[in-house]
Amino acid sequence: MNGEKLLVQELAFPTINELFGLPKGKIIVAGPCAVESEKELDAVARSLKECGVRFLRGGAFKPRTSPYDFQGLGEEGMKIIDRVRRRYDMLAVSEIMDVRDIELGMRYTDVIQVGARNMQNFSLLKELGRIDFPVVLKRGMMTTVREFLLAAEYIVSGGNQKVILCERGIRTFEDSTRNTLDIACIPLVKTQSSLPILVDLSHSLGRKDIALPVARAALACGADGLMLEVHNHPRDAKCDKAQQMDLTEFRTFLEQLNKREDDADVIAMEAVSTGGL
Ligand code: PEP
Ligand code: MN
Repeated sequence: MNGEKLLVQELAFPTINELFGLPKGKIIVAGPCAVESEKELDAVARSLKECGVRFLRGGAFKPRTSPYDFQGLGEEGMKIIDRVRRRYDMLAVSEIMDVRDIELGMRYTDVIQVGARNMQNFSLLKELGRIDFPVVLKRGMMTTVREFLLAAEYIVSGGNQKVILCERGIRTFEDSTRNTLDIACIPLVKTQSSLPILVDLSHSLGRKDIALPVARAALACGADGLMLEVHNHPRDAKCDKAQQMDLTEFRTFLEQLNKREDDADVIAMEAVSTGGL
């Protein structure tokens, strides 16, 4: 380490677009909470691809609060992700929870996700530091921004600079959302580091009715992209039913997000900044 500074503060990290050779622009990572079947993932991926989404998410190893809840399809789920990403030429993001599954992640996905519950699984972080492979590191639900950056430091100091942070809300007393999206985390990270950062709307909110204004706020704060859960039949989903958008809801969400000119708030803001209205 160089003096007091961390490597995550010092190094110039690649943007997500640079990591994957994509043109400039905000990133959308979308897909179901869990891979439930090939039919499900295929239907979601086909629709996302039509919307221009490049990154497909879906969990094969699910960190569930109860051991009796659906745990994911494991290796079979990873193989489904692999077939679907190839079929639609998409980049796959999927969580692993165990160092023993790093190889599976590298073989069957394009980005390994470390979930909130494992942000401080230091053995996993150290092993991910030894590989040359993109990692999405989600913020732990009870961790500070400093602890978040230090978790990234574990991976970066091992030699892997392909790190993408993801803010997904922290636990507070507020119970109208599943977690409290810490919007300040984005500029805080941006002032201390050049690491890219995504905002996961689904796990921070636990609902979808307010996703659009929150997405706008996240992007206005400097987020490099958004993560969202999308399912072809959210009501029948094996997990996180309330927060998963259906295919039509997602399409509308994306259209609204891209349609800035007609937005009354934006027009009002412009009027204020130019002294008009
Ligand atoms: C997920 O993205 O599938 C997930 C479980 O999220 P988190 O780790 O943020 O709770
Ligand atoms: Mn989920």
